[in-house]
Amino acid sequence: MQTFIQLAALRQQIQTWQQQRQRIALVPTMGNLHAGHLSLIALARAQADRVVCSLYVNPTQFAGHEGFAQYPRTPDHDVAQLAAAGCHAVWLPDDATMYPLGLSQATTIHVQGIGDALEGEYRPGHFDGVCTAVARLFHQIQPDVAIFGEKDYQQLCVLRQMVTDLALPIAILSAPTIREPDGLAMSSRNQFLPPPLRIVARQIYTTLQFMRDAFAAKQPEAAIEQTAQHRLAAAGFVVDYVVIRTMNLHIPTPACGEPRIALIAAKLGETRLIDNVIMNR
Ligand code: AMP
Repeated sequence: MQTFIQLAALRQQIQTWQQQRQRIALVPTMGNLHAGHLSLIALARAQADRVVCSLYVNPTQFAGHEGFAQYPRTPDHDVAQLAAAGCHAVWLPDDATMYPLGLSQATTIHVQGIGDALEGEYRPGHFDGVCTAVARLFHQIQPDVAIFGEKDYQQLCVLRQMVTDLALPIAILSAPTIREPDGLAMSSRNQFLPPPLRIVARQIYTTLQFMRDAFAAKQPEAAIEQTAQHRLAAAGFVVDYVVIRTMNLHIPTPACGEPRIALIAAKLGETRLIDNVIMNR
């Protein structure tokens, strides 16, 4: 596995692979890798000849109070895990490479509509930062395919819209959420939970399971949302949202009988957690 810190060297390697007609997959991450990230690498290996993983803690997707400085950075461990997982190249850009004109002058991408609700409402500017960084990675690496986790379902939808709208010749694939044995979705943020709250955190997934079962049992969606909200509040969460949406993240109309997705964002102590499950009836 090769490690790149210079864009010119990375581009040279990409060009060589392109000349050899090798299919290239990109897995963008912020590092501090866990089994969820490694599952994306495994999918990338199945989809492409060469896998590039980027490790970049992107400042523009953190709002002021969101702990950019505290975000866990473990590059040596990440690189070792990626090598063991069969990744071919690691891209470690610095801020000057990602934002050569500086953060305040950066050309910024805003995906309208789908990016404005839910996470967009509670984390203003977050998706602008995500899209701005991911679009740069796409231009730097020119992958044939890019892989994202369903754990960040709205991010996946926003990035699909960006790729469609900008006609980027990149296939976006998604991978299912990898969970801890008690059901908590793996996340770099979980390590911030003190042990008593870590036990409570599993209630996010049990609440999502309740929502899935209630939906399958044809209970009204508004009532399911309300009960779920109460369950989370009673367990000690400060809930940002607990909603049922169509797979395109629209508010469902009662008549439509398609699959749904239940999404939760809630704070436990200082740690904000998000998760979702797809539901059928
Ligand atoms: P992050 O490093 O948190 O920005 O995540 C990088 C990628 O890994 C994103 O596409 C996430 O959706 C994905 N990801 C994060 N956690 C998980 C998980 N538990 N299971 C599957 N994918 C995940």
